[in-house]
Amino acid sequence: MTKLKTQSLKKRESELANSKRQLEILSNGIFKNGELPTFANKIAESNQFPLKSKALEILQINLGYMCNQVCEHCHVDAGPDRKEIMTKETMQQCLEVIRTTGAHTLDLTGGAPEMNPNFRWFVEEAAKAGIKDFIVRSNLTIIRANKKYYDLPEFFKKHNVHVVSSMPHWTRGKTDKQRGDGVFDKSIKALQELNAVGYGIPDSNLRLDLVYNPSGAFLPSDQASMEKDFKKVLMEDFEIQFHNLFAITNLPISRFLDYLIASDNYEDYMYQLVDAYNPTAVSNVMCTNTLSVSWDGYLYDCDFNQMLTLPVNSKIKHISEYSEQLLEGRNIVISQHCYGCTAGAGSSCQGTVA
Ligand code: SF4
Ligand code: SF4
Repeated sequence: MTKLKTQSLKKRESELANSKRQLEILSNGIFKNGELPTFANKIAESNQFPLKSKALEILQINLGYMCNQVCEHCHVDAGPDRKEIMTKETMQQCLEVIRTTGAHTLDLTGGAPEMNPNFRWFVEEAAKAGIKDFIVRSNLTIIRANKKYYDLPEFFKKHNVHVVSSMPHWTRGKTDKQRGDGVFDKSIKALQELNAVGYGIPDSNLRLDLVYNPSGAFLPSDQASMEKDFKKVLMEDFEIQFHNLFAITNLPISRFLDYLIASDNYEDYMYQLVDAYNPTAVSNVMCTNTLSVSWDGYLYDCDFNQMLTLPVNSKIKHISEYSEQLLEGRNIVISQHCYGCTAGAGSSCQGTVA
């Protein structure tokens, strides 16, 4: 029987729900005693410190931390008990920026962004801005969670949304272990429904990509060969098609950090990340061309920094005072979790970067 933790760290009042505690763990121990180099020292070896932002390409907006799942590895610490939800007023402030930004990609995430009561209104308004690539990160099971979500595939199609969905494995056992009992079957059904309206079909403009992340304390293997395996098995077993697979490394924060510590894998995992450090991945890590907006409108270099409460190093702190010009060229705020973005072929919300 799969062991299910059905509450967020915050609800469980775990010390790791506190981002300061997470940062202490990441700064002390093997990094303080010099066994492993800090990320700042590592990137300085190839003259890449300080890491600087370039022109904005991707605006990522977190609509809230509420989710219908409580996945073991979740870096958001999302779950049904999280109440942080973006208000319509903050959405209005985001829309002002979406209408004027030079970014080519808008990326809505959560939690389950669909659970925000103003999600559909926001998508309808944001779609009018005509941004080239409009991504919604859907966990798939939300489509089957309740009757009110059953029409999401049609809704996504109507607004030409690019659907990016987590699917940690093509087997029920590995998927359910990471994401909860029953998640695999619901995800398969949701993928079939997305296919049925045209998503993921090879020549279709309706983009459907999957995200893989490892189900334990190890790094993802080669993205291209995993994509081939996923395509083969999902087609043979369930007649499911999709476009691309993104392989994402689990960053050592929040619930994955909790898992690493509880399973006594924290130090080994940090060694793996540092050993796999790839200096060529540094110039393309996602914070260099992305800005992350939290549910309450504050700005971060990436979703991970948002969860660690590490705000942007700029006098512009909130979406209501947004200035693309003033945010460009800022120093990115880094810590040891950043090794997760530079291991092997690198890792970002769009998969490998090197
Ligand atoms: S990983 Fe995604 S689906 Fe799972 S709990 Fe976190 S936000 Fe929800
Ligand atoms: S964790 Fe965030 S700040 Fe650090 S390298 Fe990755 S994207 Fe950049």
